Amino acid sequence: MSDVRLRFAPSPTGPLHIGGVRTALYNYLFAKKLGGTFILRIEDTDQGRYVAGAEKYIIDALNWLGLEFDESPAKGGDYGPYRQSERKHLYKQYTDQLIEAGKAYYAFDSADDLAEMRKRYEAQGVHSPKYDSTTRTSMKNSLTLSEAEVKDYLSKGENIVVRLLLNPGEEVVFTDVVRGEVTFNTTQLDDKVLLKGDGMPTYHMANIVDDHLMKISHVVRGEEWLSSTAHHVLLYRALGWEDTMPKFAHLPLILNPTGKGKLSKRAGAKFGFPVFPLSWKGETEEESFEGFKEFGFNPKATLNFLAFLGWNPGTEQEIFSLEELVDSFSLDNIVKAGARFDIDKAKWFNQQYIMSSDTSDLVTFVKRMLEEKEMSYSDDFIAGFVGLMKERVTLLPEFLSNGAYFFSDELEYDEKTIRKKWKAPNDEHVKKLFGNIEAISDWKTEVLQDEIKGYITGNELGFGNILPFVRIAVAGTMKGPDVFEMMALLGKDEVVNRLKKGLIKFEESES
Ligand code: GLU
Repeated sequence: MSDVRLRFAPSPTGPLHIGGVRTALYNYLFAKKLGGTFILRIEDTDQGRYVAGAEKYIIDALNWLGLEFDESPAKGGDYGPYRQSERKHLYKQYTDQLIEAGKAYYAFDSADDLAEMRKRYEAQGVHSPKYDSTTRTSMKNSLTLSEAEVKDYLSKGENIVVRLLLNPGEEVVFTDVVRGEVTFNTTQLDDKVLLKGDGMPTYHMANIVDDHLMKISHVVRGEEWLSSTAHHVLLYRALGWEDTMPKFAHLPLILNPTGKGKLSKRAGAKFGFPVFPLSWKGETEEESFEGFKEFGFNPKATLNFLAFLGWNPGTEQEIFSLEELVDSFSLDNIVKAGARFDIDKAKWFNQQYIMSSDTSDLVTFVKRMLEEKEMSYSDDFIAGFVGLMKERVTLLPEFLSNGAYFFSDELEYDEKTIRKKWKAPNDEHVKKLFGNIEAISDWKTEVLQDEIKGYITGNELGFGNILPFVRIAVAGTMKGPDVFEMMALLGKDEVVNRLKKGLIKFEESES
């Protein structure tokens, strides 16, 4: 193993959004590419936002996609525990260290005090006042209060937080692998809370302590964390860890299909596409979702699609296995601009995977779907069906929805075409042709084709006048695979039965 160590650090606050899955994937790809370690760290210090079941969801989703961790809460590792709620003592220890070194301080302000401070400064014309070098002098903290008062507040134990002490006018410069040099000035920043009233660390403190202790080499995460990075760099400085600070790479946003705004649950619900990997059962209907899995996406196609949301290999190749992605991946090829979420592209990837899937895997899948509907067919029949439909589906459940007529003779007849074409002399010919088909004993694709086409050309009828009736009688619809192959697969008894039902239907259309 190399020293390259990447962590995926989700907060279990709900189902993992597909953007989070992309973050996990890029971390995985980069770690594997450099022979490094891929770590799962659960950032569960925000008790107010904790959602039971979210951690399991994250793990199930990444399992489904085949992204395996080398170190995780379940697997353990040399740098555990991997759940932040189990590491509380460490954050306390480092916050104490910062206080002792004069780089952090206690603050005792209530929510009312903070609101009052904002009001006061706003009245003086300060735009969005924050807790910083300007305002902290008027607040209740260990910098303004006497030692005795501080002791008193500490013993009372109410509203105690620890804040990072920032000096104004300092430049914070760091190089982001995706964005290049990024500069902040401490004057723009607030004295971030590091330890909260409940004794839990904030995201910033826990994240930095853990990245350091877990020897994380690269932090690859969503763009929304870019603005926090200034505080992170300052924390590394304050803790004396700047030399071993990880490299940062902030991934572009994933945008709604319209290209406007961050991809949202709402857009998914509105346009009927998934924005989560797996289904999630929330407390209400609106908070419950189907995932890529339930929509019928193949996990490999899902990964392939996600890989391209913000990265490209710089070549024409689009279909990549996970191993190929690992080989080709590089942080240098991550794009800066937001990546538009295009569900049609996801379906295209899925279709490519279905077309190149082993028939036996698809047979197993279709068999399972049929069993769920309490239907049973031979493997040969299902294999024939899969062979005919494979190129006509983009999502797995479409095998049964688009190909329903293979399993039932309750057909949805294309009435419009029937009404348009059921007239003399087609009608008499169709009846005659159906009689001829019934007389065929060698029930094979070629024989059926020769007989039917032969009849049409022999009578100089034009395919468009007669063939639609064969197809509609057999399948109800004009869409679908080769009609002769379909008839051969369905078998003579079934087809003859459908031709008879079809004729009744056609004749009804006259009345
Ligand atoms: N817990 C943060 C999240 O939920 C982690 C951000 C980071 O990777 O630093 O995304």
